[in-house]
Amino acid sequence: MRNRTGFTLPRGVRAASVLLMACTDPTVPTPSSADSGDAPGAARERMVVQQIEARGVADPRVLAAMRKVPRHEFVPPARRDSAYEDRPLSIGHDQTISQPYMVAVMAELARLEDDARVLEVGTGSGYQAAVLAELASEVYTIEIIQALAQSAADTLERLGYGSVRVRHGDGYLGWPEASPFDAILVTAAAPVVPPALLGQLAVGGRLLMPVGQTSQQLQIHTRTPTGFTVENAFPVLFVPMTGEVRARSSP
Ligand code: SAM
Repeated sequence: MRNRTGFTLPRGVRAASVLLMACTDPTVPTPSSADSGDAPGAARERMVVQQIEARGVADPRVLAAMRKVPRHEFVPPARRDSAYEDRPLSIGHDQTISQPYMVAVMAELARLEDDARVLEVGTGSGYQAAVLAELASEVYTIEIIQALAQSAADTLERLGYGSVRVRHGDGYLGWPEASPFDAILVTAAAPVVPPALLGQLAVGGRLLMPVGQTSQQLQIHTRTPTGFTVENAFPVLFVPMTGEVRARSSP
């Protein structure tokens, strides 16, 4: 599949965090720039119906969260007209806010209960943390770029998500003093899952992470009483994890 930029993405790969992909499913109508003149609420409703429900996300709590969180508040002012489009968007510092569908499907796959405690690695804009805060009782999120961590914390506070704990740092080591977590969502890709993150998962908890280099799979690691099960959910394309993981992965 080829998009406007001429970039080719392998068939079936779901673009989460790259700027190049508009829509991986040609049968799903994509909201156009016509959204730009509409009230954000109407554009958000179209986003949920056309991009998220149409692709099979059905958890009513996740759909309600996606209908509620004002995504346009988490993107830079110059990109607000595009906030509800079916693609990731630049948030500066060579980073992105993930495609809305990817945020929703990861939230659904995490199977969060009301009383869940969640860790996100890769705060970015803070949008996904706000969605998680609608679904869980405690949300912890770590961002390696200080300016993004600060701006996400400010946005979350301003929008009433001040209970989300935001930390500037390298998520490779997780947040040990707040563990164990019922779910860990990593929103940047690495060749392997950082061992410390697996160690901070509660029994029965699920870790979702894009794993791979030239090609990535969204992996789901579930902690059992005796170990872990691993499944590949589907191919994805996320921005790479930086920091310690790079040193640990080099030959
Ligand atoms: N979930 C975000 C949102 O809703 O905007 C999008 C996250 S973006 C796809 C990935 C983020 O992971 C970037 O902001 C990047 O700086 C961050 N990141 C990369 N490596 C990291 C690391 N080792 N620790 C913490 N954050 C990291």
